[in-house]
Amino acid sequence: MTPDRSKAARELLAFYAEAGVDAVIGEQPNDFLSEPEKPPATEQLPPAATEPAGARAPQNADVRAGSGRVTAAPPPSPDAAVMAAREAARTASSLEELRAILDRFEGCGLKGSASRLVFADGTPGSRLMFIGEAPGAEEDKQGLPFVGRSGQLLDRMLKAIGLERQQVYIANIVPWRPPGNRTPTPVETQICLPFIQRQIELCNPEVLVTVGQPSTGALLGVQGIMKNRGRWFPYNTGTREIRAMPMLHPAYLLRSPIGKRLAWRDMLAIKKALG
Ligand code: URA
Repeated sequence: MTPDRSKAARELLAFYAEAGVDAVIGEQPNDFLSEPEKPPATEQLPPAATEPAGARAPQNADVRAGSGRVTAAPPPSPDAAVMAAREAARTASSLEELRAILDRFEGCGLKGSASRLVFADGTPGSRLMFIGEAPGAEEDKQGLPFVGRSGQLLDRMLKAIGLERQQVYIANIVPWRPPGNRTPTPVETQICLPFIQRQIELCNPEVLVTVGQPSTGALLGVQGIMKNRGRWFPYNTGTREIRAMPMLHPAYLLRSPIGKRLAWRDMLAIKKALG
């Protein structure tokens, strides 16, 4: 590459990084503007099939005959993806099976830009389960939830009530990192919801802690983390009713340390609930 072209390439990369592009999702550039127009995606559910659309083996890369271009196959409609997720999650009879099913699931677009699945950390069957929003950059690298800065704070909060990470079970509502750490969209959340619900059922904790508003809203159906943190809600796992408490997200506490005294109160309440 000539020095001029290499300088231009570096400047273009710097522009992308500044615009928040932090992942490459294909080997070939794709000019979507020159694609023939596709019919609009239907919101209707497909007729019952023996195999759910999104649960099939990876199919999202497809080389068009003669064009030499790699293009993404159209994703299933949101309704079809949610239905596929429900069917797929239901068939898992253990956490390991659920992880394998999620790893094959093609119904959520986030899988295409994430490096790997971030399923869980800690000990399955723990009495206490934490559920965050979605993996960040460090979680995406390591394949484990809550291992970045907010995860380290969560570890310290656990230690403060006498618990190690390996004595609890930790997962996220969405198991793939959204590009640029953006909040998962409502559609992405709905598609991933059946999996985390099944994960809770299979882990079978006594106490569930929803970390931050996105997981609180998705699992407990309540809005307003400030007014709901520290309160107990009933949560039906599918096999029994347990207690669930929203708490402030450690990422928020890192930005607003004043919230730490509220979080400390909540951690003490969690410790008390475990007896
Ligand atoms: N924030 C989350 O909600 N989950 C993680 O795994 C990491 C950061």
